[in-house]
Amino acid sequence: MIVVMAAHATDAEIKDVEQRITDWGYGVHAIYGEARTVIGATGVPEADKERYMESLEALPYIEQVIAILRPYKFASREVHPEGTVIDVKGIKIGGNHIALMAGPCTVETYEQTWESAKACKDAGATILRGGAYKPSTSPYSFQGHGVEALKILKEIADKLDMRVITEVMDLRNIELVSQYADILQIGTRNMQNYDLLRELGKVKTPICLKRGMSAKIEEWLQAAEYILLGGNPNVMLCERGIRTFETYTRNTLDLSAVPALKELSHLPVIVDPSQGTGRRSLVIAMTKAAVAVGADGLLIEVHPDPRTALSDGPQQLKPARFAALMAALRPVAEAVGRTL
Ligand code: PEP
Ligand code: MN
Repeated sequence: MIVVMAAHATDAEIKDVEQRITDWGYGVHAIYGEARTVIGATGVPEADKERYMESLEALPYIEQVIAILRPYKFASREVHPEGTVIDVKGIKIGGNHIALMAGPCTVETYEQTWESAKACKDAGATILRGGAYKPSTSPYSFQGHGVEALKILKEIADKLDMRVITEVMDLRNIELVSQYADILQIGTRNMQNYDLLRELGKVKTPICLKRGMSAKIEEWLQAAEYILLGGNPNVMLCERGIRTFETYTRNTLDLSAVPALKELSHLPVIVDPSQGTGRRSLVIAMTKAAVAVGADGLLIEVHPDPRTALSDGPQQLKPARFAALMAALRPVAEAVGRTL
């Protein structure tokens, strides 16, 4: 059961509702949003729901009480019909504008990151991506430069007036990475790392939750629910391809997940066509498709010299191709009523 407080509700009125739910013996989880507070009551037996809902609905400072039968509640479209817009230090994710996040797979050197970032910014990207902690499948592969890479990202992003998105793998690093990053990326391999998700609920830094490579949409939304339930309302979802029998592409980019998520949830949806295809020749086409099906943002890998890249060389775009991609994207965005 979800209680949506009226926009004008005072702190005392919010406390009052929380107290009533506690007195009835149920769990209380509140998200204190900018516009309004939403309170979840957990553990209410089905048979008693109607009675409690009616008594709450009679209060003037409650806008609506909703019974949500889905296994995720705060992530569901019902609690937030208009769609969430996340403010990343002045850059909006969600809404009419499409957010462009681009940069190298991994921060290798200052120069390599600078070249990539400069090209991305010149082509229109506003958020710089780059791995500092890399979740490599092989322990022999490059693992990232850690805090040195975080410093490079921040320095370059500040110079170019960009924001930073980078992956955090370990809950012990959330605070450290948050000092340098504006969005914390949770990689596909960690989508079901529930201890990490719970900790991410305790901060307010925006989270980009990538889809687990074998995760169903419902499991993904429940993973987002962990973060929301903890009190962090700034969650975006990133489709990055799933495992299927196909091997020509690195993953199968499930673009049907985008409109499906839009039906089910209010959270902004990002598409990563780089991990999603694993092939640079396919990135432009899939990016256009992502925008056409309603993506709110894009996460794209760009490297000044992909042949020498320490990770994901085959899928990284050269700067010129990224600029061409942006030009090709504009009419598609326009056609679906969005801006870049
Ligand atoms: C990445 O963005 O470079 C990355 C490792 O992503 P994923 O977790 O989707 O594989
Ligand atoms: Mn990568």
